[in-house]
Amino acid sequence: MSTVERVSRRHILQTLTLGMPVLAAAARESARAADAPLLNPEDRDAKAVKYVEDATKAQRAVPDSTCANCAVYQGKAGAPAGPCQIFPGKLVKAAGWCSSWAPQI
Ligand code: SF4
Repeated sequence: MSTVERVSRRHILQTLTLGMPVLAAAARESARAADAPLLNPEDRDAKAVKYVEDATKAQRAVPDSTCANCAVYQGKAGAPAGPCQIFPGKLVKAAGWCSSWAPQI
């Protein structure tokens, strides 16, 4: 085995070893987020931004704007709900909407 091969293998192993805790933490955070409770539209904070679970029922919503296409939505594509940066620890419906909606850039 040449020095180049050993260095290369060492580098790969070090990279994998250092990257594992980061990947594990990301997986744990993702699992925690998926287990979070849904935001209740009757919550004071939800009412403050006029959150609704169905954007078609929001009077001031820009047409076709939903949580799923909001700049601060963190849910996976196609998921029925996901985390929102303004409601930490809660999930919002992908079809929902609130007055803080902002377009994705
Ligand atoms: Fe939905 Fe965006 Fe409002 Fe969060 S900020 S509840 S993702 S519209």
